[in-house]
Amino acid sequence: MSEPKVMTVLGPVAPDALGAVLMHEHILCDLTPLARRGSGEPAVEITLENAFDVNYRPGEFFGNHRLADEALAAREVTLFAQQGGGTIVEMTTAGIAPDLEGLARISRATGVHVIASAGYYTEPYLDPETLSLPVEALTEVIVEELSVGARGTAVRCGIIGEIGCSWPLTPFENRSLQAGARAQRQTGAAITVHPGRHPQAPHDILTILDKAGADISRVIIDHMDRTYEDDGEIVALARRGCVVEFDFFGIETSKYWMGVADLPTDWMRLRCIRRLFDAGLADRVVVSHDICTRSRLQTLGGHGYGHLLRNVAPLMIERGFTQGEIDRLLIETPRRLLARPL
Ligand SMILES: [Zn+2]
Repeated sequence: MSEPKVMTVLGPVAPDALGAVLMHEHILCDLTPLARRGSGEPAVEITLENAFDVNYRPGEFFGNHRLADEALAAREVTLFAQQGGGTIVEMTTAGIAPDLEGLARISRATGVHVIASAGYYTEPYLDPETLSLPVEALTEVIVEELSVGARGTAVRCGIIGEIGCSWPLTPFENRSLQAGARAQRQTGAAITVHPGRHPQAPHDILTILDKAGADISRVIIDHMDRTYEDDGEIVALARRGCVVEFDFFGIETSKYWMGVADLPTDWMRLRCIRRLFDAGLADRVVVSHDICTRSRLQTLGGHGYGHLLRNVAPLMIERGFTQGEIDRLLIETPRRLLARPL
């Protein structure tokens, strides 16, 4: 059998070519609610004067959730490369405006590997026709996105998800999870899940995936940062065998714009990661920023895709992590998750 490879938007690459990997970002996407898209409202212009407020209350400024400027995106990805980055896993699934050919152009222009996502975001972003599809049809689409080409292009995806889940989970989202599990059985791809905003949501999701035959060691549960306030609950979740993801690095604010949550600072994230490492779960943690707003781009005053490498890695050394542990988090675990027989 051939060596495991990683499917990028420009084709398969060897796992050791990835370098430092961000496991959960958006480069081109639109998280504007469907009802407001195309409303003709002017998009906010981010200035030095309003940059803090747009970052603090990102959902209140129309257009902030739309990443559609390809030249700006390429500039941001270039900054990531200059700061030591190698690969970005781009999580834009159906419903939030995936642009596969745009990603391929950006990857070609910047030299950064980009991995695209198969599957479906949460129900409120999807059209009635999609929402009526049975598990079999959803599975077929996901397998095709991974093995033939996605969304009418020849660009193949390299991971399943982020599969969008609400709380409570909707019947469509339940089918979307089952389809993800079935597609994983056929392709070997990892699954990554955006859980509903409730501490029970990740557990219910793992149970559905497990019953549908998924390999839980290749399932990533995203957004630990806003799902649990107690680190012990994150350790308990990882003990179920899945990978837990801290993907709000760079967000250090008291106001959670999507609900009520005590968001951690970067250091509090690291403290929980330390605890996971000390509990023998070092191979079940990944990290990212989940950039999905303009206000978090470096060009517009934000932390950009390079924050983990530029700021967090030195903070980790300062706080006693070894370089080997940093490499585990940014290089080795992503490599294991992304590589599959191709
Ligand atoms: Zn998400």
